[in-house]
Amino acid sequence: MAAAELSRRLKHEAIRLGLDAVGIAPAVTPAGYPNYLTWLRKGHAAGMAYMEREPSLRAQPECVLEGVRSVIVASLVYGSAHAAVPPGRASGRIARYAQGADYHQVLKARLNRLLEWLEHEAPGARGRAVVDTAPILERDYAQAAGLGWIAKNTMLIHRRLGSFTFLGCLLTDLELEYDEPSAKSYCGTCTRCLDACPTQAFAGPYELDARRCISYWTIEHRGIVPDETASALGGWAFGCDICQEVCPWNRKAPAGGDPELEPRPEWANPDLIAWLERSAAEWKTRLAGSALERAGRRGLVRNAALVLGGRRAIEAVEPLAKLLKSTQTHPVVRAAARWALKQIGTPRALEALADSANDQAQTPVTPDRRVALDPPA
Ligand code: SF4
Repeated sequence: MAAAELSRRLKHEAIRLGLDAVGIAPAVTPAGYPNYLTWLRKGHAAGMAYMEREPSLRAQPECVLEGVRSVIVASLVYGSAHAAVPPGRASGRIARYAQGADYHQVLKARLNRLLEWLEHEAPGARGRAVVDTAPILERDYAQAAGLGWIAKNTMLIHRRLGSFTFLGCLLTDLELEYDEPSAKSYCGTCTRCLDACPTQAFAGPYELDARRCISYWTIEHRGIVPDETASALGGWAFGCDICQEVCPWNRKAPAGGDPELEPRPEWANPDLIAWLERSAAEWKTRLAGSALERAGRRGLVRNAALVLGGRRAIEAVEPLAKLLKSTQTHPVVRAAARWALKQIGTPRALEALADSANDQAQTPVTPDRRVALDPPA
C-alpha cells in the first residue's frame, strides 16, 4: 500500500481508537534538540538526573527503535475545562493530568493497539510505543508532526485542543507520509503564563527553570522543599496548572471526556488532613493505577504538610504533631511537619515542636535508628 494511503488510514484508525489528534514526522534529530542542550547547560533540569543521562540519545530516535523512519505522534485531551472549585483551607489541588487513571497505561495501550493494526496492514513492519518511557523529545516531534506549537509556557498547544493533552509516540521503521510541521507560534504578544507563575519559574519565554517550578518540587523532588518554595505552593499538593489555566488557547478547548481518564472525585480537591493520617497500606491501595504514584506516599504527605502549614491550618496541628512524634516518620516528612507547625505558630503547635526537639535530644542516633527512620515510601 502506498505511504500516503497507509498514513491516511492509520490516522483514521488512531481516531477510532480514541485518540484526539495524530500527526506523522520523519524520525530525524528533533529541531529543538539544541534548546534541550542549552536547558541542561543552564541547570534548568534541577535534580532530574534522568533528563541529563546521555543527552545525545534524544538526538537519535534510532536508539529507541533500530531502523526507525517515522514517528507517529498522538495526543489525547484530559481533564475538565471548568475552573476548579476553590479549595478550602484543608484541601489541596492536584494537577488535572493526574486526577484520573495513569495516562501512561491508557495512552500506551491505545498506541499498542495502533501498532497491532499497523503490523496487520503492513506485514513485516516493526514499531514501538513510548509514553514518557524512552529518551524522546515528544513535544518537538509533535510540533514537527503538525500537532501544534511549543508555546511560551513550554507546553505544546494545538489550536483546537489547547494544551491539556497527553502526548505519546509510536515509532516505526515504515516510511509514511509526513505532515507539515507547525512552523508558527500563536502566542503573539501574550505573556499571561509568564506573568501568572507564582514562583517566577520562567527564565523567559519558552524557557522553564525547573528549579523554581511547583510541579518539579511537588512531583519530582524527593528531598526537603526549600522554605521559599514551600511558602509559595498556594494549595498545590501535586503539580500545578497555573500556566495552562491562564492561557487563552485553553478557554475554548474541549473538555476531556474520555471514560478511561475520568477524574476520580477523591483527587479533585483532596482533604490533606486525611493524607497526613492515612496508613501506608491505604496509600498503596489509593495510589494503584494513579499518576500520583510518581511522588509516592512520602512526597504526598510532605506536600500536604507544606500546603497546610502555608495556609496556617490550625486543624492540622494534631496530625502534624503525631507525625513528629512517630519514630517511623521519614526525615523529609518530619522536616515538612516541623516547618508547617512553625508557620501555624499557635501555642499547641510550638509546644509540639519543642517536644519533638526534646525527644530528638534524648534519643541517641544509632545506625539501627537511622534505618527505622527511613522506611520505604
Ligand atoms: S498564556 Fe499566552 S504566552 Fe502563554 S502559552 Fe498561552 S498564548 Fe502563549
